[in-house]
Amino acid sequence: MRKKLKDLETSSTSGTQQKPERLYNCGEWTPSRFRSFVTSALRTATRRWPPKFKVLKEANVGRKLNKATNKQALHYQCAHCKKHFIAKDIQVDHIFPVVSPTDGFISWDVYIDRMFCEKNNLQVLCKTCHSVKTSLEKEERKHGKAKKR
Ligand SMILES: [Zn+2]
Repeated sequence: MRKKLKDLETSSTSGTQQKPERLYNCGEWTPSRFRSFVTSALRTATRRWPPKFKVLKEANVGRKLNKATNKQALHYQCAHCKKHFIAKDIQVDHIFPVVSPTDGFISWDVYIDRMFCEKNNLQVLCKTCHSVKTSLEKEERKHGKAKKR
């Protein structure tokens, strides 16, 4: 229940279902292609989001031998399994996901607000722990949709 009752009664045009149709790229793009275009542009911008670097800095455990290359490399601690990994094997994860598994996509405002969150909602995970978390969220999302909130 995200919508206020008053809004439902007084407005017939501001609801998410009645949103006026608009074209994306002269109609050559579907709304979902447009959405993934914007999503990927926003994701690119997170590479320059300072809280992300703060979280990486905190997870940094210094230089250690990278067994694969036999060279010294910076390592980071996974917040979940606590093991140490080189930069390419870690990811910065949103502890509370950008798109809530139960509520789904709400609006770009909410999406942007959650994507560019403060560092207390960010953690460094190794690729394995991150994929486990992601697939759990995907499961939850499926169930959430089935219930139709
Ligand atoms: Zn891990």
